[in-house]
Amino acid sequence: MSSVNEDYITSYIRDIVPEKCGQLKMMEDYAHQNNVPIIEPEVGQLISVLLKLHKPKEILEVGTAIGYSALLMAQNLHGNWNITTMEKNPEMIEKALEYFQESPYGDRIRIIEGDARETFPHLTKKYDFIFLDAAKGQYMEFLRFAMDLLEPGGLIVSDNVLYKGMVASDKLVVRRKRTIVNRLREFLEHINNMQGYTSSVLPLGDGVALTFKEDLI
Ligand code: SAM
Repeated sequence: MSSVNEDYITSYIRDIVPEKCGQLKMMEDYAHQNNVPIIEPEVGQLISVLLKLHKPKEILEVGTAIGYSALLMAQNLHGNWNITTMEKNPEMIEKALEYFQESPYGDRIRIIEGDARETFPHLTKKYDFIFLDAAKGQYMEFLRFAMDLLEPGGLIVSDNVLYKGMVASDKLVVRRKRTIVNRLREFLEHINNMQGYTSSVLPLGDGVALTFKEDLI
């Protein structure tokens, strides 16, 4: 599994998460068979709870992959909402579009194609929930854009921030991941010390950071 938690803790938590059915189950099977990384079940549960609590209307995601997390989020939203999701890999985009077309939520989800570092500057809408789940070494860059687009009272959720535990312990760091680990450490230091924001890092899944933008800045 990952080194963020003891395996027995992760297995236990994962075992009690209800199994998905229908399209999400099919997508999980496709992802596992084709080695597509999608959010872990326990992270999916966390996001579901956050969405029910926070009730966002405009959601931005960086890292669509096959659209699993976008459709999971869609199932946990109510009223008028839209999801904008950014992806650079054409094969992923094609597959995500197929799934979105088959879904009753498809017409409320828009994919922005291309490298998010290039497409971010074209976004003008404000968002009240932003989910970062793309290249881990680029989180600082995504964050700068995300902060500008986030409404006061909005939340940024960043996945994989402990990166198999390597971010928390030098002993776990493999050489070729050193740069990503350093960048994630810089990212976590930064979000924990930004004025006008409050962050929390959770050792769930591969590490999840929550960053809340204060209402009164
Ligand atoms: N959020 C998805 C889910 O849980 O179903 C999984 C996303 S997967 C972990 C990361 C995705 O981010 C990959 O499909 C990758 O191609 C995409 N990606 C990585 N860097 C990107 C960038 N700079 N701009 C856009 N997409 C990016």
